[in-house]
Order: sequence, then structure tokens, then C-alpha cells
Amino acid sequence: MATSSLISSGASLFFNKISQKDAGVSPAQVITTSIQQKKILSVMAPQTSERKPSTTGSVKTGMTMTEKIFARASEKSKVSPGENVWVNVDVLMTHDVCGPGAIGVFKKEFGDNAKVWDSEKVVLIPDHYIFTSDERANRNVDILRDFANEQNIKYFYDITDRGNFKANPDYKGVCHIALAQEGHCRPGEVLVGTDSHTCTAGAFGQFATGIGNTDAGFALGTGKLLLKVPPTLRFVLDGEMPDYLLAKDLILQIIGEISVSGATYKAMEFVGSTVESLSMEERMTLCNMVVEAGGKNGIIQADATTFKYLEDKTSVPFEPVYSDTQARYVAEYRIDVTKLEPLVAKPHSPDNRGLARECKDVKLDRVYIGSCTGGKTEDFLAAAKVLLASDDKVKVPTFIVPATQKVWMDLYTVPVPGSGGKTCSQIFERAGCEPPNSPSCGACVGGPLDIYARMNEPQVCLSTTNRNFPGRMGNKEGQIYLASPYTAAASALTGLVTDPREFMH
Ligand code: SF4
Repeated sequence: MATSSLISSGASLFFNKISQKDAGVSPAQVITTSIQQKKILSVMAPQTSERKPSTTGSVKTGMTMTEKIFARASEKSKVSPGENVWVNVDVLMTHDVCGPGAIGVFKKEFGDNAKVWDSEKVVLIPDHYIFTSDERANRNVDILRDFANEQNIKYFYDITDRGNFKANPDYKGVCHIALAQEGHCRPGEVLVGTDSHTCTAGAFGQFATGIGNTDAGFALGTGKLLLKVPPTLRFVLDGEMPDYLLAKDLILQIIGEISVSGATYKAMEFVGSTVESLSMEERMTLCNMVVEAGGKNGIIQADATTFKYLEDKTSVPFEPVYSDTQARYVAEYRIDVTKLEPLVAKPHSPDNRGLARECKDVKLDRVYIGSCTGGKTEDFLAAAKVLLASDDKVKVPTFIVPATQKVWMDLYTVPVPGSGGKTCSQIFERAGCEPPNSPSCGACVGGPLDIYARMNEPQVCLSTTNRNFPGRMGNKEGQIYLASPYTAAASALTGLVTDPREFMH
């Protein structure tokens, strides 16, 4: 049998790391080789998604999607994991927290009068500490504005009237969601950003990763970065998604399996019938949290779903890449999603996996639905679906923070399926949730004391965000359980960590 190391009972039945230990199976089952030349064996793969072995008698080497993007961006015909290459950047994003630092590096190294390498490839998105009276936070947005004016930056999503975000049509909100909604995420390209969750954009079949302010300062001046080509881990997710699961459960399953360091400086490539069935927003959730496993990037190949999403968002031509059948992977994991159950990550680490139903005695003080991970339109539709299934009101304060201005609009206009035309906002109001707040990162990362829904007391919070380290949402003694929007809504209804199946029949 395949090797497994698991913390949830029974999980080995559906999560297999395929390794050299599986010698002795028929050659037809040998589907790839790793960079250490381990044999990787398929244990649970449906035939449809299994790749063919070489028929030449020798193993041809190919490239993964990530390697192909590196090769193209470095103007080489081939690259290999571990190689350092100069990469041409397609999009550089920075926000109000890191932008001033990156701009400072740029000015120091290139001079006060220097111009950025391409004013149409730099995207400035204030999103973190916006609705606050904190002067330093406000000044950071001012610095972005000055820089945007000075450099004639085409894509600056400004906010000047903090009292009414709707009076700022340019203002978007959380950078990773805004990047997608505004058409900056394109297959085959290189997108870097001064935020670790820039990996979200891997959902579009592009190489997307977080960088530091020094690298960003350099890239602002040159449009280039020296990057090491990451080796790739392959995750094959197959099976019809149970209707009580969301992509958040899938990524919590994976992080719980491989740990917060299990993918350190590796690409995490997601394939399989389940992934193919996911919407773009769900794919973004999957890629969003690869950095919680140490991943350099997450990546999903572009397909009809991707192209449809992009149809009305960009006119920039792009060229998708696809992994070769002989591409080399460090390891391959196979997951039968039909066997999974709703999960949480318990305090204080995203890999502290537990079944939601096994945490049913955990009393909550609050529920938070928001962020780049769990504050998208579909996340709120999912939460509303659970609330709709109950006549009850929420038992604990339940905070609603849409990621972007578009998501905020959707809460008031998009009908929730099966509700007879009700919107999320109507369902949230009936259930007694707090009114939707202004779009931003909100309390996801704590921030200044007056940030909406910041956890200023040592409370227990169930959150659709992506990190639960001590102090992440404010108070250092606070406890954060990470979960899907389904689980968040179910837990809000009971005031305890609750498996959403209790409300979804
Ligand atoms: S929502 Fe949270 S995780 Fe996402 S960019 Fe903002 S602070 Fe970071």
C-alpha cells in the first residue's frame, strides 16, 4: 500500500503519497519519475487521468507548467529545478503595507528621478489598513498615490474618501481578488507581488508568487528578478465534490497532510477531475493557501473555465502552457475527494487539521467571513446557503467582510440559488449577522486597533481566512479555527464548531 502519515482517523483511505516504496507493481502503473529518480506509482488514480509511461524504453524528460513559464520568461528553451534564472516580470503588484518600502528601495537604488520599467505593468492596490484613523496607515496610501502620480501608473486602485468607499469607484479592495477581477491574472505569465498570498493567481495557470520589498524595488527598476526554478509537487484530486465541501476543505486537507513546511520552495500543481470541476473562485482558494505549506507557487492549468472567466476581463493576449506528460515531479499525491469531510485548522497553525465534527465542543465567541481566501462572492453564497437552510439566528457575532467592492455589490444583487430570489445581504440580515462591512483585508491580519472586527479580546474565532498563528487577527491570546464558509455559517448558527452537514440535508 501507499505510504501515509495522517492525523485524522481513516484519512489514509483517500490520501496517498505515492513513493518508491511501491515497487513491484506492473510497469503500466509507473507514471512518472521524480528529480531524485524515484518511481512514482499510481494507487488510486482513475484511468482517465493517468499519464502514459514512455514508450521509447528511455524516460524522456519534459517540463512542468511552472518550468515552462520560467523558461519562457527567461528566454530559454529549457530550465530545470534548482537553476537560477533571470525572469522577465509581466505584472508587479504592491499594496499599502509593503508599497512604501518597495518604493523606498527603488528610489534608493535607482535614484529619485528614476522611472519604473513599465508603468502599465505595475499595479498598486491599497487594501490592508484602509478604514482606520491610524495616521501611519493613512500615510502609506498617500505614498502610493504620490508614486502613482509621479510615475503615471496606469493601474492604481485609489481611495480618498474613507468615509464612503462607494464614493471611490477606482477602489477595489483585497489585492488578490482585485487582480483577478481586473484582468491582471493571465495564463502563462509571471505575476509577482509584495504579499505572500500572491500565489492565489496560480489558479489562472500563471506563475504567481510573493516577493520581498527589496526584490520588488529591483523589479520596479528593471522588470526582472533572479529566481530559482522550483521543483514541483503534483496533487491529483479526483471524484465528484460532495456538496458539503468547498475548496477550503481540500487545501486544509493537503496542508494537514504535508505540514506547513511540506512544500517549501516547491510548486504545487493541482490536477484531476475535481480541480477541473471547480470554479475560478474555488481554484483561487486552493492556490491561495499553498504558501501555508511553504509552497513557492500553486498552479492549475488554464481551461475553458479560465478562458470564460477572462473573456470580459482582459484584452491582453496570453499564451497558456501545459505540463508535459514526461514532466518530472518530486512527488505525487492522490486524493479521493468523495471520502473527505469538512475540516478545520485548529489553533495555532494551518496544518493543525481536525474534522469539524470532532471539534463540536469548541465554544466560539465570533465567526468571521472574509479575506482573499474566504471573502469572495461564492464564499458568501455558500455561507448564505447554510443560513438559508435554517430558520435560526446566529448565536455569536458574525462578521461579513467582502473582499472587494464588486463582491460587496454582489451581496446586494446576486440571488442565492434556491432562495426564491433573496440576496446574501437579505439572508445575512434575517439570520442576525453583522451588516456587510467595507471591502478590505479587514481583521484578517489584525492591524490598527480600530480596524473593523479586529479581535481585541482573547476570544475564540472561527474564520474563513488563511492563517491562525497567535495574534494573527489581533489579540495574542486569541484562538482561531480556520474553516470553509459552509462550516463558518453552520458554526455561527450554533455558537460551536459545527459540521455543515448538520444543516445540509
Ligand atoms: S485578506 Fe488577509 S491574507 Fe489576504 S491579502 Fe489581506 S491580509 Fe493578506
